Amino acid sequence: MKLLMIAASLFATLAMAGENDRLHTLKSFSVTGGKAVFADFSEATYQINYDLTQKKATVKAEIKLDTAEAGFPIFDSVVAPTSVIFDGVSVSAVETKTPNGETTLRFVNKLAPAGSHTLTVEVPLTSLVEFSDAGVKSAFWTSDLDEREFLERYMPANFEFDQVKMNFIVKYIGAKSKHVIYTNGVVTEVEDNTYKISYPSYYTASSIFFHTVPQGATTEQRFTLKSIDGRDIPAVVYFSKTSWTASLDRLVTKTTAVFHELESDYGPFPHPSITVMQAGSGGMEYCGATMTDFSALGHELFHSYFARGVMPANGNAGWVDEALASWRDDGYQTLSTLSGSTGMSSHDYYTRTTDTAAYSFGERFMSFLDGKFQSKGGLKPFMRYMVDKKVFSPFFVEEFIKEMSNFYGVSVEADFKQYTFGEGNNYSSQLKAKSLIHRKMSIQEMQNYL
Ligand SMILES: [Zn+2]
Repeated sequence: MKLLMIAASLFATLAMAGENDRLHTLKSFSVTGGKAVFADFSEATYQINYDLTQKKATVKAEIKLDTAEAGFPIFDSVVAPTSVIFDGVSVSAVETKTPNGETTLRFVNKLAPAGSHTLTVEVPLTSLVEFSDAGVKSAFWTSDLDEREFLERYMPANFEFDQVKMNFIVKYIGAKSKHVIYTNGVVTEVEDNTYKISYPSYYTASSIFFHTVPQGATTEQRFTLKSIDGRDIPAVVYFSKTSWTASLDRLVTKTTAVFHELESDYGPFPHPSITVMQAGSGGMEYCGATMTDFSALGHELFHSYFARGVMPANGNAGWVDEALASWRDDGYQTLSTLSGSTGMSSHDYYTRTTDTAAYSFGERFMSFLDGKFQSKGGLKPFMRYMVDKKVFSPFFVEEFIKEMSNFYGVSVEADFKQYTFGEGNNYSSQLKAKSLIHRKMSIQEMQNYL
């Protein structure tokens, strides 16, 4: 009976993920000869081969997808594919811009009827890969400040709205020594130098943290954190030996303090593990993981609740979690008035990036909403509600507005319209100067932290 119930509820979760994907699948657009159509990827298995003898890395992605209308199915990969096979037939892929030029993507150059299809794409893996005599260092670090910097920066993937059951098969061909994998999935050694990583079905192109190094290249500490729901959550803090000197104790203490702070504000930690890599300036968030400098650690772990817990489905929703995280960073301040306006919610339809006004004006907007709902406990009860009810269901900003209006029984539509759907960003230059937590790091800079 119990087993049956678990199976039933798992099925319900999967069915919901599929339904949420369908609700958020982006609209098709016209291209020569038909329409380019966004697909709902249901499963993607990535064969990642690090050939240590040849000093070359490749990825082969095997994707199961569904389309709701006939057309050229869309995927993305910054790197040009060396092979594309669609429904068993070798085809080509076309790189194109969206109608208003807000982003670039690829589509399969084959008109396909609506329905279930298979897509196999091979690409060379060249970004953030470094071979040496000791082995290979490689990472799939992301950014939301420029377009095409999620998983598609390294391998074929879908846009951020789509939740995909992903698996990695990682092979170190010709490896003389062991490699370590830091990731937010379940790692199993299937044979010598071959690992399978299974990621939860609610992950999107912005969810995965992956970093591999030859054993001994990092310094780490593993420990467990006791969740308020009784779980012992495995945690690891680490840094690369060659690029950084830091204190593991300090990292453990800070991670533990932030973990308890967030659980007391927003409920049980939403993820099954925690990975903290100290490196770089600023930081970037993943599901239960971060690559961050020490000062941004709290901000980045907050994102395990908002960004990688309550997930944005596109660029126009991406500012919400940055505004909330910045609001926390500055001690949850309250405002009764606000002047200025932004276009954080109203960029062109296919925009994938987050408007950086989120960190400054966005934070003030959250302070303003907190002030507006003082008599109802401010904004925090709503945030906790969102984690409770909407975790792992990517949202558009319109849905966020609706949820908030329903929660407080007062429409906030006019507030969001005034402050986030404007034409461009108009607010004080003093506020604009606020430094960025997610400072843009180039691939060359990130290479130093491998
Ligand atoms: Zn952030």
